[in-house]
Amino acid sequence: MNRKSVNTESVTTCWNCVYFDLSGVYFPGRCNWFRDVKKEEPKEVPGNLVDIGCKFFTTKEGSSR
Ligand code: SF4
Repeated sequence: MNRKSVNTESVTTCWNCVYFDLSGVYFPGRCNWFRDVKKEEPKEVPGNLVDIGCKFFTTKEGSSR
């Protein structure tokens, strides 16, 4: 079977981040870090970032990497 490669090693992706919000207008969703920390409007997460995450990643348990 020829499956698309997925980075399964990193858990610090947007999918596992407390700030990730699937209710965004565009797929995959939006980042509420800007809302919760910067007091700005949430921003849509680019599709090329969602599987990587960013330096502001925070686990849903509340600890950062
Ligand atoms: S962009 Fe960063 S802070 Fe926002 S959801 Fe993704 S990992 Fe979390």
